[in-house]
Amino acid sequence: MLASNESPFPPVQAVLTAIKDAAADINRYPDPGARALRSALAARYDYPVTGVAVGNGSCEILLAAAEALLEPWHEIVYAWPSFSMYPHLAAGTDARAVEVPLTADHVHDLDAMAAAVTDNTRMLLVCNPNNPTSTYIPAERIARFIEDVPPHVLVILDEAYVEFVLAEDPDTSIDLVRRYPNLVILRTFSKAFGLAGLRVGYALGTEEFRAAVDRVRQPFSVNKLAQAAATEALRHQDDVARRAEWNVVERAWMDEQLEELGLEVAESEANFCWLGLGEADEAEVMQVLAAAGVAVRPGAALGAKGYLRVTYGTRSENERFVAALRDALAS
Ligand SMILES: *Cc1c(COP(=O)(O)O)cnc(C)c1O
Repeated sequence: MLASNESPFPPVQAVLTAIKDAAADINRYPDPGARALRSALAARYDYPVTGVAVGNGSCEILLAAAEALLEPWHEIVYAWPSFSMYPHLAAGTDARAVEVPLTADHVHDLDAMAAAVTDNTRMLLVCNPNNPTSTYIPAERIARFIEDVPPHVLVILDEAYVEFVLAEDPDTSIDLVRRYPNLVILRTFSKAFGLAGLRVGYALGTEEFRAAVDRVRQPFSVNKLAQAAATEALRHQDDVARRAEWNVVERAWMDEQLEELGLEVAESEANFCWLGLGEADEAEVMQVLAAAGVAVRPGAALGAKGYLRVTYGTRSENERFVAALRDALAS
């Protein structure tokens, strides 16, 4: 199962225990203010709790932000290919989607994105590292970009994979959200924290942003088990660090294998890679992989035919993928 950028490892025992303990009280509604979790996040980032929003996955925060902010005459700018959720924000609000192609290196073209902003642009999304292409832009470059964007545009920096970044301290970007009131940082417990099945994500922004998001959705969106688990998971930063270190080892191993196969691989700072199949037919490769029991994400579904997005799994899963891919390319 290398198709959804999940962690192959279950959560630590303390998190499972927190879920079990919270389950004993499941006849009661969850805290609609998610105070324990939001306070823990505020403490973790030394950030005002009033600006911490939590959601039923970070996807819910994205959808709520779109619903709260976008009108049909607005424009929303994002890179393409990027996260498959982004087109839904426009579809759900009738705002106009402005998709800015990535560079040839599969990186956000920030100059072109800034140039795509008009008086009607209300929201701009930067996915960093980018899903599906795995590439990363340093925080310092993001800061210069925000300087280029007028203040009527809300910039959402989607950092679902930031814990896997090796290029710089993943928390460098937190300084930016303190500096720019039109910036929101979006993070999740679904990837490095290994809690995808619980659905919990969060945003750091202004109090106005959090209030806007809260106004358009139901009060109990983050369930009780998710609140308990995420709060406990924040106490285990060493576990996140361990997953990130393990990821770097698998990333290096996969890079080496794919290079040996002569494939083009984007420079990954995430827990997945983006590889070009060259002359090989994507649909045929997908068929061989499926027959070997290996699920990956085909580029055609993401607007980039001839590419695959492959999550790093355990070493044996990765070996199984590479063996199946070698067969596919030989046939
Ligand atoms: C996986 C992912 C998310 C996380 O979504 P959740 O709703 O928090 O599970 C957000 N953004 C991107 C780019 C992702 O790939």
